[in-house]
Amino acid sequence: MKLPERAAVIDASAIAHNVRTIAEYVRPAKVLAAVKADGYGHGLMTAAQAALRGGADWLGVAHIAEALQLRAEGIEAPLLAWLHTQDTDFAAGIEAHIDLGVSGWDLDPIAEAANVLHEPARVHLKVDTGLGRNGATMADWPELVRRAADFKNRGLISVEGIFTHMAVADEPDRRETDEQLEAFHEALAIAERHGIVPDLRHVANTPAALSRPDAHFDMVRVGVGVYGHSPFADRTGASLGLRPAMELRTTVANVKTVPAGQGISYGLTHRVEAPTKLGLIPLGYADGIPRIAVGAPVLIRGRRYCSAGRVAMDQFVVDLGDDSDVEVGDEVVVFGGESGIEAAEWGTAAGTINYEIVTRIGARVPRVVVNAEPSL
Ligand SMILES: *Cc1c(COP(=O)(O)O)cnc(C)c1O
Repeated sequence: MKLPERAAVIDASAIAHNVRTIAEYVRPAKVLAAVKADGYGHGLMTAAQAALRGGADWLGVAHIAEALQLRAEGIEAPLLAWLHTQDTDFAAGIEAHIDLGVSGWDLDPIAEAANVLHEPARVHLKVDTGLGRNGATMADWPELVRRAADFKNRGLISVEGIFTHMAVADEPDRRETDEQLEAFHEALAIAERHGIVPDLRHVANTPAALSRPDAHFDMVRVGVGVYGHSPFADRTGASLGLRPAMELRTTVANVKTVPAGQGISYGLTHRVEAPTKLGLIPLGYADGIPRIAVGAPVLIRGRRYCSAGRVAMDQFVVDLGDDSDVEVGDEVVVFGGESGIEAAEWGTAAGTINYEIVTRIGARVPRVVVNAEPSL
């Protein structure tokens, strides 16, 4: 297949494989695959279809708007959306049978929309057990549960789930995870006292799914692992049995020999010490390559080379050394595929994490989907 000049090659079978791998690990818990943020940059529908092919029971997004897009594209699987504003179209969500995360203020407008539609809203009550973002605090939880029980008795909502989100599960030794789980059990007990015993208790993100069986409950909500990446600083995706679903690749746009002392890119923050060859890689921060990444790897002709100097809007430079046989037109893999380069390495070079690297690959880079199920 002839690829575009720059491409994020998305291997749909890797996504399916990763979901299958995680599902086996967490069985009998169900799997919600997070496909928010355009499927972590892989493409919303590509990620959704491949995750379902791999056995995902649910799909999760942040915004109802993202869930509506999935419904518009024909996805019938259960969907959960958990981050709302006062401008969120709750009625559209209820009509499209999208389950709604509820943290507090949002319960009233959701019940109101259900009342107007004469259709109960399906909600998952969210408790903040320590992350400090969304969800009712433990202090506010009894009141949220009481209001939910009231709306439930009036036929305006059904409580399908209770959930929380982990703060430090990527560092398995931290005790805060135990504290969060204890608080979650307490929140479940409080809900039960109000007659709320939902089928779906869910807590675990990818790191908790892979490191804390006691956090599996009825369902895990996994994102980064679905795309083949490790949530742990000291583990690779491959060592967890996961396959990277995105390969970022292009070809070498220019090669030239420069003398000792040559400065590289804006600010001349890097100078070569000896005569060397430089390769020009036609991807930059407009494509999601972080400007501050320093010394990050690429693979050309089976060898790793490191970026040198600042990443610019459209391009960056790699130092090829003085004996390189790299030529203009050679294939470059920035990360993923068979390269062995993990997006996490670019994350480390840029002071961020693999999540951000793959999610921010820009719209200028075409996604080329391979190994998708043949459409009938
Ligand atoms: C994004 C998200 C997840 C998935 O997290 P990963 O670390 O990518 O597995 C799970 N739950 C919630 C609420 C999220 O926002």
